[in-house]
Formats: sequence, C-alpha cells, structure tokens
Amino acid sequence: MRCVVVMFLGRLGSLNALEQSGGSGFWRRWLQGEPPSADTVGRVCAQAEADDVRLMGRQIYSRLKRGKALAPPAHGLMAAVVDAHESHATYRRCCEGCLRRTIETRQGQRVQYYHRHVTVQLVSRDLELLLDAEPIRPGEGELTAAIRLLDRVLEQYPRAFDVVLGDGLYANSTFFNYVVSRGKEALAVLKDEARDLWQDAQSLFAEMEPTCLRRGRWEASCWDVEGFTSWPQVRGTVRVVQSEERTVIRRQLDGQAEVMEARWAWVTTLAQGRASTRAILDLGHRRWAIENEGFNELATRQHADHVYRHHEQAMLVFLLLAMVCCNVFVAFYRRDLKPGLRERVSMLHVSRLVASELYQSRAGPARAPT
Ligand SMILES: [Zn+2]
Repeated sequence: MRCVVVMFLGRLGSLNALEQSGGSGFWRRWLQGEPPSADTVGRVCAQAEADDVRLMGRQIYSRLKRGKALAPPAHGLMAAVVDAHESHATYRRCCEGCLRRTIETRQGQRVQYYHRHVTVQLVSRDLELLLDAEPIRPGEGELTAAIRLLDRVLEQYPRAFDVVLGDGLYANSTFFNYVVSRGKEALAVLKDEARDLWQDAQSLFAEMEPTCLRRGRWEASCWDVEGFTSWPQVRGTVRVVQSEERTVIRRQLDGQAEVMEARWAWVTTLAQGRASTRAILDLGHRRWAIENEGFNELATRQHADHVYRHHEQAMLVFLLLAMVCCNVFVAFYRRDLKPGLRERVSMLHVSRLVASELYQSRAGPARAPT
C-alpha cells in the first residue's frame, strides 16, 4: 500500500513506472527493501478491504478538523458534492462489475465495457476533501449508487456538511426526499424545461425585477423565489434561483475586453433565511469549480482513472487510495507551504520533486517492466 501512495504522490502514472523506480535509495530508506512488482501490487489491492482505505480517509479528515483546517465558507454552509466519474472503457476485457453499452464503430456495433464510480467531495472555505466513492453496479442507476454512498458517508461523517450538491440528474424527487429525511439540505441544477416547476418559475420570474449582484468584473441578475409547490413528489416546498451572469475578461490575444455570459438555474430546499441568493450562487458555482479542480486533479494528474488492474475490488481500492493521496497532497500544499512559496511552486512541481527523488537516488539502470 505504501508504494501505491508514493506512486500517486509522485504521479508516476502506472505500476510499471513504480516498478522501474526499483533500486532507488528512497525505497531502501522507506521500505528497507525494493518496491514490489506491478503484479504483486495489483494482486494485493484486489484483496484489500476498501473499508481499511476509507478509515485512512476518516483519520485525515479528523486531523484536519481538529487542526481547524476545514472552516466553512463565508455563508456558513459546508457542502458535499455528489458526482459520477467514468474510470475506463475497453472493448477487450470485462469483469463482474463492468457496465456495458453498445457503440457504433466502423466495424459495426460493438459492446464496450466500462466502470463508473460516484464520489462525494467535501467543500470548505478553501480546501476540498474527497470523502468516499461507490461503484455503480450493473443494472442500477447513478442515483441508486449515490444514495448507497451517502448512507455510508452520513454515518461516517454525520456533521461534516449541511447541504448536498449535484448536477441536473440530482434534481430528482427520490434524491431530494432522501437528503431531507437525513436532516440535510439539497441543491441541484434545474434544467428540465418540460417540468412544471421550471415553467412555474419562468412565468413568475418574467414578471419580476431581478436583483443585481456584483463582485469585481462579475455581475449577475438574479431571480430567487421560495415556496414552490409545483414539484409535488418532493415533500415540502422548494426554492428556485436563476442567474444571468456576465464576466468581463481581457482577451489574451489582443487585450480587448470580452463579455462572457452564462445562465444558471438551481432548485434547493435551502430557505432564504438560511442561505442568501449570493450563497446559492456561490454553492452552485463551487460544484463546477470542483468538476474542474477536484476530480480533474485526481483523474488527470494522479492518474486515478488509469486501470491498474481490471478487477472490481482493485479498481475501487486504487480509486480510494488515489483520493486519500489527493487529500494529503492538497492539504499539504494549501496548509503547510507558505503562501509565498505556493505562488512560485505549482502542485505539479511538488509531485515532480517526489518523482525525481525516486529516480535520482536510484542506483544502476531501471529494471525493464515486466
Ligand atoms: Zn470491469
């Protein structure tokens, strides 16, 4: 396990790259020996307990919490973002956990196998933590897996967050009712233009003057109404917030000012007395920031979507380990490095330092990958 942590922190990208770092003085100091072969690491992860890795994640959360590193944003609401990510797609291999879909290819229709996991990420003022992940099983939808995941997250992190955020798929009555029944608030993108709630909100907003919010080069016209009953499957009333946003940017090419426009709508159980319009916009936008920073950081840089071994359990264990490593790395970068140093050194640079330590202190040539 310890060598997999090094693999992720150094963003080595594969078990073979890890194996090639054999002979490094780093391993002799750390493991008093050589790193195991790629096959051995894959086999161990296939037999490892996901709950053991989840426990590591909880210990990191507890330490950060005790160290007051997880303060809520200015609006006071801690959020958990639920989202699904596809890890790998292949025509060649499948396992018991594979999802399948038919793809039109030049050679005709082919069955493609892939895996998807739902993840929960905690959003504090300036630190995001990946809390847990759950595979979407064959034959079930994302929401079923998300509720199974939240059941565990709510048991293990009962007071970590106030509101659950999701994309348009999560604007679903079963999901909203579930979240409310567990004592939390729900917020999701509203984009189903055919639904009564959307139409009711639009006809009401058409007769209202929007309020205007500003921050630097960004401004938004906002409509915010609570008490909607036109989503009868949801117990209680809901609130709809819509924004038309304009951001002035300077084009890099010619320095000309350009206006970027965006339109958003969200449905939420959060009352106006608990979260202002600005708070809803902040929460909604953080969900997309995470799409770009949090999981992207994990998937593209830590190589979490790479299939280290095509085995259902191994893939889950690798993903959970990648999440733990991502958390440690981001917490170290944001909390332990002085701001002045952070301005000069990117996260990628720090990873490369880890990797270069492995390769520089290696005695002799790399072993050929097996
Ligand atoms: Zn599979």
